[in-house]
Amino acid sequence: MDVDELVAGARRGEARAVARLISLVEDDSPKNDDALRQVSAALAPHTGRAHVVGITGSPGVGKSTSTSALVAALRAQDRRVGVLAVDPTSPFSGGALLGDRVRMQDHATDEGVYIRSMASRGHLGGLAGAAPQALRVLDAAGCDVILVETVGVGQSEVEIAGLVDTTVVLLAPGMGDGIQALKAGILEIGDLFVVNKADRDGANTTRREIRSVVAARESGWKPPILLTVATTGEGLDEVVAEIARHREYLEDGELERRRLARVRREIEALALGSLRRRMGDVTGDARLGALAADVLGGRSDPFAAADTLVEHL
Ligand code: GDP
Repeated sequence: MDVDELVAGARRGEARAVARLISLVEDDSPKNDDALRQVSAALAPHTGRAHVVGITGSPGVGKSTSTSALVAALRAQDRRVGVLAVDPTSPFSGGALLGDRVRMQDHATDEGVYIRSMASRGHLGGLAGAAPQALRVLDAAGCDVILVETVGVGQSEVEIAGLVDTTVVLLAPGMGDGIQALKAGILEIGDLFVVNKADRDGANTTRREIRSVVAARESGWKPPILLTVATTGEGLDEVVAEIARHREYLEDGELERRRLARVRREIEALALGSLRRRMGDVTGDARLGALAADVLGGRSDPFAAADTLVEHL
């Protein structure tokens, strides 16, 4: 396998090369370490162009349906689109489980769309360690916009904001989402709010609830709150327009700031993962056994023993 050839293929838009590269960066097992590093180095000069957009919200609000509709709206503008569905709670990547969730059959044969799902449980650094590599591949492959959709529940909903340039928070009327969202801190991370299922009662009430919270924000960007019906595509063009407007807003220094923070976290996650792996190696080490015996025998204490262990890493 020639990494440079694969990267060149991906940059020419070859879907197979893109898929191969993502598989390579996803595999963080020790035997793949060299390949992972080579790919990462080869991609580095070709990244930074794509607008990375996160789609988040509680299960059932319509993330999959909206992502698919957004792809259609972006393709209508002839933009090249990547979709990364991440499930931080699952150890299984790329399989049918996630593939089924992403309602992307409409786009499966479109050469301007790359769709990929990945799971990151057990990956070094979790979501923060795994997803950025896949995003780099899609970026280098010439995607204008990359949509990152969270699958699964919990922390990932908020964590996603740390991976993307623009965060779109989806809510739906009548799900008690207003109050739940406040609790989850999800209203703090949104650059755009979308009240999906606007064909149902209560969409305007939900919009007002969001507005009352968001209006208190001090920052320069006032997040728009849009209504959509993802199943018919209603309102999606406006979402695309507001996403583009947010990107323009970010150009004024904020994009650089967000991306720097992101890369810092990424480096930190990788470094911590690497330390943890070394710690794992150490666990089988005779030194740890000796230190434990010293602590148990009263000749040392756990803090001093831990310091000794870290010094030897
Ligand atoms: P996710 O779990 O957030 O990804 O939500 P899905 O995209 O899987 O959608 C959950 C359900 O809501 C599906 O049955 C969709 O067909 C339905 N749905 C999505 N968007 C709308 C909408 O705008 N209006 C209505 N009535 N149903 C919708």
